[in-house]
Amino acid sequence: MNDYLSRLNAEQREAVETVDGPLLVLAGAGTGKTRVLTTRFAHILLTGRAFPNQVLAVTFTNKAAREMRERVSAILGRPAEGLWLGTFHALCARMLRRHADLVGLSSSFNILDTDDQLRLLKQVMEAGRVDAKRWVPQALMAIIQRWKDRGLTPERVTPAEDTDFADGKARTLYAAYQERLHALNAADFGDLLLYMTEILRGHPDVLAQYHRMFPYILVDEYQDTNLVQYLWLRLLAQAHKNICCVGDDDQSIYSWRGAEVENILRFEKDFPGARIIRLERNYRSTAPILAAASGLIAHNEGRLGKTLRPGGNDADGERVTVVSLWDSDEEARMVGERIESLRRDGHALAEMAVLMRAGFQTRAFEERLITLAIPYRVVGGLRFYERAEIRDAIAYARMLHQPADDLAFERIVNVPRRGVGEQALRAMHERARERQIPLSAAALSLAEEGALRGKVRDAIKELFAGFARWRELLERDGHVVTLATLLDESGYTEMWKQDKSADAPGRLENLKELVRAVADFDTLAGFLDHVSLVMENEESAESDRVGLMTLHAAKGLEFDTVFLPGWEEGLFPSQRTMDESGAKGLEEERRLAYVGLTRARRRAIVSHAANRRIYANWQSSIPSRFIDELPDAQVERSGSAALQRDRMIAAPSFGGAGFGGQFPMVARRPVRTIEAWEQPARPARADAIPVGARVFHQKFGYGTVTAAEDDKLDIAFDKAGAKRVLDRFVERAK
Ligand code: ATP
Ligand code: MG
Repeated sequence: MNDYLSRLNAEQREAVETVDGPLLVLAGAGTGKTRVLTTRFAHILLTGRAFPNQVLAVTFTNKAAREMRERVSAILGRPAEGLWLGTFHALCARMLRRHADLVGLSSSFNILDTDDQLRLLKQVMEAGRVDAKRWVPQALMAIIQRWKDRGLTPERVTPAEDTDFADGKARTLYAAYQERLHALNAADFGDLLLYMTEILRGHPDVLAQYHRMFPYILVDEYQDTNLVQYLWLRLLAQAHKNICCVGDDDQSIYSWRGAEVENILRFEKDFPGARIIRLERNYRSTAPILAAASGLIAHNEGRLGKTLRPGGNDADGERVTVVSLWDSDEEARMVGERIESLRRDGHALAEMAVLMRAGFQTRAFEERLITLAIPYRVVGGLRFYERAEIRDAIAYARMLHQPADDLAFERIVNVPRRGVGEQALRAMHERARERQIPLSAAALSLAEEGALRGKVRDAIKELFAGFARWRELLERDGHVVTLATLLDESGYTEMWKQDKSADAPGRLENLKELVRAVADFDTLAGFLDHVSLVMENEESAESDRVGLMTLHAAKGLEFDTVFLPGWEEGLFPSQRTMDESGAKGLEEERRLAYVGLTRARRRAIVSHAANRRIYANWQSSIPSRFIDELPDAQVERSGSAALQRDRMIAAPSFGGAGFGGQFPMVARRPVRTIEAWEQPARPARADAIPVGARVFHQKFGYGTVTAAEDDKLDIAFDKAGAKRVLDRFVERAK
């Protein structure tokens, strides 16, 4: 019966068996925190301390909740049902339905999504006579969310807490917004926790009921809880104090969403006498991966301090590989090739993952994997070409290419908002049917006849004038410049720049990435064909797929092989985070790198590219400081890093890339010809490679040049034999 305990080491076992009283398990990555929590859950049940529905278990994602349910079922030997197991939001929503009347809602209240929230905020701002042009509603939304994260109802926000938003009106607007929500019988995500803590604070009977209902509380990924979540937990646990939180301060990566790692210190203070158990053996990763990750995180100053030792398995695994590549295309190729080769050697795809700093980075890998016919899944997000902003941008591109594309027209005619409502759209459809003409032609004819409202008419005319201009530009300057210009001039990128929600910067990055992708094709038509083909390639139903995800989405997961591309200054650590949060931001980025490395069981492949296309330009980039911070002994560098490094300094950086405007060069110099935007002559190579020179090629290795013609070289490779290659793929060997 105690079989499940035998799978634990002494400290883990202690953490499982210390069932009564507050317990904090503070331990590094892969030390079995989640395993402890799951086993503890089962232990509580198997020792008859509680029924399955009497344990409140909080996980960070729905996926983690599913996994924990499965693990508990496996230990119990039967499906675990009726569990109170899920994310903070899911659990609070379920609770709040039971007590909605206490906060003036009915139990069928609606949970608003971000769009609804924004619409409501705009109305509230209008009613409060706040200029929505000057003060963007998204900013107000963020302010309110942060207040809610801290458990502050409008009454609890002190004047000192108010911001300069709308000249100090944020508090009043917040109160008005809450009133509107009430009137609509609705709550936003932040309200779920806010209301539940208010209810538990204000209604001792309800609180007592929950104390009886949940004699045991379990919390995973504790380091990423925010204040209101903490308050909710503290209230629920305050009677019996049987609360077990597991976490790792080195993996705190959500401060931008209001998470407070200080909750770890609060726990010790609020639950005097809390047991603290540290786990030191990592069972996940090989010794070199672990040492590399530990060496990296040691560069952070704000740490609680922990020891991490290999759990005994695979003491001599592969070292962490750092691959230096010429450009981002090569990086995607390298990853694709390695995945293919691992697959050939019998490794499951589901045991491999590509973890990225930013969502836009998936594009290059998705396309590479599609080309190689390797099934993949994008975890925690949509595939690149399915993202809303990409679909919008492509609809614009389709309109450019084919004005009769009704679906594309319908998608973009009111994005950004041009005042085209249901009614106008209906008129357009009618006209199109009557005259058997495309929707766009119908819209134009209505506008020209003055059959539409003044504002709509002007907007439609302007849009068509735009398309006329962009089509000319397309003829003259080509599709890359044109698409970039179009996105700017149509107001589309501006729409996202005005958007202050947390995902807006990511969407802007995706748009830049799209323009980069377009540059890989000779014509717009070629690109659009490619997109249709990619889209047709439905997500494979197969279960064995490579995982593509952001580092944030990878928290808590593990894979045999982990690829960590894009370790370049500015991308990772992200310039934006460093600009916004300075040294603290850098430490959070480093924790993210630590999370990334520690997802790997056997193999971690870090890479960086010396050149990255910043929309249509190429810009040289410097390897991430995190690469230098990896202890040398644990790292194997390949791709002639030293050479690359020399070169990077020499590589020409083609202006642009000043992220000030979305597409700065286009905006400023729209007539610049496309040639100037091509990838710069690859090496800043002053020296042609002479016959007889010793050279190194990424793929074929060392060889001697036997003949040279233009940009091609004949080379006798030592291992690969005679080959003709482009000179930009070879280095002079030292
Ligand atoms: P993270 O910080 O990344 O969330 P964690 O501390 O939650 O990591 P787990 O995911 O629970 O760690 O465990 C990491 C891996 O080690 C899992 O594959 C788990 O099954 C295994 N493991 C944990 N404890 C032991 C043990 N005592 N013996 C063998 N394997 C173990
Ligand atoms: Mg875990």
